Amino acid sequence: MTPTGEQLAYTDAYARSVEATVRHVETGGSAIVVLDRTVFYPGGGGQPSDRGLLLRATDGRSWTVRGARKAGGEITHELEPDGDPPVVGDRLQVDLDWARRFALMRTHTALHALCGVVWRDHGAQVTGGNMEPGSGRMDFEFESMSGDLVDSIEEAVNVELGKERDVRVNVLPRAEAFAIPDLIRTKINLLPEGIEEIRTIEIVGLDLQADGGTHVANTREVGRIRVTGYESKGRINKRIRIELVDPIPDG
Ligand SMILES: [Zn+2]
Repeated sequence: MTPTGEQLAYTDAYARSVEATVRHVETGGSAIVVLDRTVFYPGGGGQPSDRGLLLRATDGRSWTVRGARKAGGEITHELEPDGDPPVVGDRLQVDLDWARRFALMRTHTALHALCGVVWRDHGAQVTGGNMEPGSGRMDFEFESMSGDLVDSIEEAVNVELGKERDVRVNVLPRAEAFAIPDLIRTKINLLPEGIEEIRTIEIVGLDLQADGGTHVANTREVGRIRVTGYESKGRINKRIRIELVDPIPDG
């Protein structure tokens, strides 16, 4: 087994481009490409995978990456069907669709701020979530949720985002992570036995979660959010939908 390629999304969410060498190609309807390093996020934790481009400088040929996945520890890139794929050994420039990724980073951090406020003010645990660029939803065990509460939650989230809180990524040994009481509420205990290190995202002073996603570095980059809806998924389980208020910049 060769070691896996370098996976920059986990260590530097702002890396939008990198030079890489092709290590493996599976041809087919849509080719699958593995590189020795990549800036693509493979999806997970409710955050969809990145899209983007691979560019071969030697002849100017480029390929659209329509999605990425984690497979056997590697991040794989799935290409739009478009003639011959690159070959092993090719040097490529790897470019994210950055407008889309940055919108996902802002949305993901906004959802964590929502979790932090709902936990702090109402003691409700999150059970799941999902997002698109600019909008998302979170599900909570939140029996007492009501329209009035949702209005106050929106206001409280915007107050917290406006405090320009730093957002930090940490990687902790499993035992250390399990000793942090706040992490238990995000169901860290469901993580498989084999995982030795736990990656956490901390909105300093508001929220701490085990999380694999990409986030902005400060809540000021999120701007404001608005609650666009809420639903009852049963007596206990409730869903809150939000979107980013501030426009998504181009490029
Ligand atoms: Zn998350």
